[in-house]
Amino acid sequence: MRTYTKIRQLLARQPLGETVRVAGWVRTRRDTGGFSFIEVNDGSCLGNLQVIADKRLGNYEAGIKRLTAGCSVEVEGTVQESPARGQAVELVAAEIKVVGWADPETYPLQKKRHSFEFLREIAHLRPRTNALGAVARVRSRLAYAVHAFFQERGFIQVHTPIITTSDCEGAGEMFQISTGQPSGGPGTDFFGRRAGLTVSGQLQAEVYALALGDVYTFGPTFRAENSNTSRHLAEFWMIEPEMAFCDLAGNRRIAEELLKYLLDDILAACAEDMELFDRFIAKGLVERLRSVAGQDFAHITYTEAVEELQHSGRTFDFPVRWGIDLQSEHERYLTDEVYRRPLVVTDYPAAIKPFYMRINDDGRTVAAMDILVPGIGEIVGGSQREERYEVLERRMQEAGIDLDDYRWYLDLRRYGTVPHAGFGLGFERLVQFVSGMANIREVIPFPRTPGFAPC
Ligand code: ATP
Ligand code: MN
Repeated sequence: MRTYTKIRQLLARQPLGETVRVAGWVRTRRDTGGFSFIEVNDGSCLGNLQVIADKRLGNYEAGIKRLTAGCSVEVEGTVQESPARGQAVELVAAEIKVVGWADPETYPLQKKRHSFEFLREIAHLRPRTNALGAVARVRSRLAYAVHAFFQERGFIQVHTPIITTSDCEGAGEMFQISTGQPSGGPGTDFFGRRAGLTVSGQLQAEVYALALGDVYTFGPTFRAENSNTSRHLAEFWMIEPEMAFCDLAGNRRIAEELLKYLLDDILAACAEDMELFDRFIAKGLVERLRSVAGQDFAHITYTEAVEELQHSGRTFDFPVRWGIDLQSEHERYLTDEVYRRPLVVTDYPAAIKPFYMRINDDGRTVAAMDILVPGIGEIVGGSQREERYEVLERRMQEAGIDLDDYRWYLDLRRYGTVPHAGFGLGFERLVQFVSGMANIREVIPFPRTPGFAPC
């Protein structure tokens, strides 16, 4: 195996005079009198490395002069200062080996900018574009920072199950994988009961929080939502911390700290990619995220939100009265026009929230919180959980839930119950917020939406 220098490291270190080897894909080739200039990208960073090929190289006519976008190459050469604008160093090639050709007649990625819709149809090639490559790097770094945040604070990561028999009522439609019917065909009776793909790891995370204190899960989540929106996927990733001995205020604080930590980290660690988003995807993004990281989130109760909306002088498609679930148009009005920063809305009506959220003393609201951000709407949904056995049991009965299915969940309130709270942060909504991408399909490598799962 040969070892290569990543272009990211090379551009950062600028080892003038050193001989290095890089490997990547050709973006462009330009010929002058006795030379060719080849832009090579290896995916380690946004920037390309300019490679200079002298016509005296052995394979110049047969190989190098036939290089086009998409070809893969290995280059060995000497790093030198670049006279060209916009790059500090370039590589003077001693050898360029063509590893794989790419037929220019059919290679779909041309130099012009392609629409994101078009790129979705070539999911196998789209990470080779500047924008989608940047998303992949930012996504990776954010995942790393999520773990860093929790691990630094002593949270234990728990791998909650993907196959589950509890549907976290109200979270979303579950993809069914086993019906419990013996005659339904292969796998339908595998578990002897109805089972599906998890819509949330929360209930199982609660089990571990009530043993280990502070825990989090970060894993794939599935919802058979038949909604073709710019912020819903059928398969997405969710970050779900769950904290014992914690109330709603503590929950809110951790969520706000987490989001700010992630913004600070990504602005520092992925500055070049963030700059690209700022220039081509969402003007002013970097400044906006900096300001979000630097100030307190706004906070209002649901009841205050309703009053604010009713006194807005706006006519909404969906009229506002106390008791409705806030619609996207309402959330967007509050975040994009009134507060212009993240907004935490707490204490929603019990009737529109799931059974496990803790009933407030007023008897009609629950200790729920949503965090709404400009441009997207809901990014976090969470609550303090109902820790009182009798109250929880009554809520479950009212919701028509079969208590036998949830004995284990009720048991947590029978043996050493404690106040506890947690939330779910949609990882793709986070990447959307950070990158400024208008559509959530651009921030996951292989989006799955109704009628769409090509590879
Ligand atoms: P929404 O109202 O936006 O559909 P929700 O209230 O159903 O979301 P929760 O059950 O609160 O979502 O899930 C927690 C978080 O998971 C949400 O705040 C969001 O960030 C993310 N999320 C939920 N559904 C999806 C989805 N279909 N695709 C991507 N992310 C999602
Ligand atoms: Mn929610």
